[in-house]
Amino acid sequence: MFICNKCKKIFPDLDGYGMRIQYTFGYGSKRDGDLFDLTVCNECADAVADAIVNVCAISPIASVDYDVLYGEDFAQPDDDISDEGHIFS
Ligand SMILES: [Zn+2]
Repeated sequence: MFICNKCKKIFPDLDGYGMRIQYTFGYGSKRDGDLFDLTVCNECADAVADAIVNVCAISPIASVDYDVLYGEDFAQPDDDISDEGHIFS
């Protein structure tokens, strides 16, 4: 179970529902020893990613060519479901 830090919706688990970032601030930093523990749902992941990209000189977002990794028959996770409602052809 997790609660989205941004929208406060409750989800059964992280599998397929969210993104998590954990980091412990180092000694001597402003937040010395504090834990950064962010969990956001899929709907909020884009907004959080946009905010992080905005403060980065080098974008942490990389495009992945799933065809090269898994072959051309691999269905991309963000592919729209076909008109007939079939996930697999
Ligand atoms: Zn959310």
